[in-house]
Amino acid sequence: MVLGHSQCGAVDATIKGGNPPGHIDSLVQAIKPALDRLKKQSPDWVNIVAKENVKIGVERLQTEDPILTARHEDGDIEIVGAFYDIKTGKVSLIM
Ligand SMILES: [Zn+2]
Repeated sequence: MVLGHSQCGAVDATIKGGNPPGHIDSLVQAIKPALDRLKKQSPDWVNIVAKENVKIGVERLQTEDPILTARHEDGDIEIVGAFYDIKTGKVSLIM
């Protein structure tokens, strides 16, 4: 399971741009492709980008991972994406 979460500070830093300090910048670089895949801003934008980042993570594990991709293709394992809502405590599957 790839688990994203709501109100993510790293996603927020990615959206705001610039060069955040320390290890946050490596997170921003990792999240940037999710932001780049989406076209326009909308309400709840931070959470939309966070969910897109989960989707990219799942796609990578399904197609590019040296171990998990083959296991997934053989039907041995499932690779799913989920989102943790900090406000409600709920985790929902998103793919
Ligand atoms: Zn976060």
